[in-house]
Amino acid sequence: MSEQYDNYIYEHKSNVGKAYTWLLEHHLIDGNYYIMLNLVNSHDASKFSEEEYNAYDTYFYGNNITPEEQENFNAARLHHIHNNPHHWEYWVVAQEDGGQQILEMPKQYAIEMLCNWWSFGFKSGNLYEIFDWYNSHKGILLHPDTRAYIESLLNAIHEILCAEDAGAAQNLLQNKVDTVNDTGFELIDMPELPQEQAEDSMQPKELTPEEDMQINDYFTDELIEKTAEELLTGKQMLIGSAFGDYWLIQVNERGENISKNGAGIRINAAVKRRLEHEIEKRGGIVSDPLNPENNN
Ligand SMILES: [Zn+2]
Repeated sequence: MSEQYDNYIYEHKSNVGKAYTWLLEHHLIDGNYYIMLNLVNSHDASKFSEEEYNAYDTYFYGNNITPEEQENFNAARLHHIHNNPHHWEYWVVAQEDGGQQILEMPKQYAIEMLCNWWSFGFKSGNLYEIFDWYNSHKGILLHPDTRAYIESLLNAIHEILCAEDAGAAQNLLQNKVDTVNDTGFELIDMPELPQEQAEDSMQPKELTPEEDMQINDYFTDELIEKTAEELLTGKQMLIGSAFGDYWLIQVNERGENISKNGAGIRINAAVKRRLEHEIEKRGGIVSDPLNPENNN
């Protein structure tokens, strides 16, 4: 197990969530906050599987790859592509006559693919990188409808970014939403976007005092103890969202989110502190998913 590789995967997943959140908050996709949390949690989950983990870790973080390690990586990559519909290769069928059949990607996977590509811009801080990247990867095989959808999203993103940089987001947004709509994909209605929201779409969602109290009441001392036990035994996980808040989710042995509504339970700072205290009493440490640098 390499910590470096683990951190890389967690950071990548969180950047995929940021890309999704951006699309959501600019009304370019028809999704919601729960889908975003689920996406962050399930994206690339197979990278932690037996078939992929060691081979990827060795390939990217080992020194001097042997021919055997190279072969292991090839097999792991094939496993990854065959198990993750957000990869375009998943939808390409090689045929006996040497040709290929390219299937249309369901919209949710096309969006996840775009977020996957764009996540690297959120990592580097240059959200424009994706346009050159896309233009230099013309070998990517997409069904014509999928390509039209992806390119309409890319064009809309580009124009919104430029408009935001020019401080004139508001006027252009509706226009772009109409353009994406013309590709025939259904989009949510475009509400009037308050100016502050347009300028700063990554604000954490504050809890109201009522919500804060509800959360405190819900977490009795007994529930805090039970939750601390489950966090220590890996039955629950504390995750952070792209909005900067914390959620408890139920997970299976493979770390996949099995919470009822896909979203888990939101907690506040007080409950987080109480949980940390309980866990420390049991000799454990809570790692903070939003501030990994504070974890040592
Ligand atoms: Zn992947």
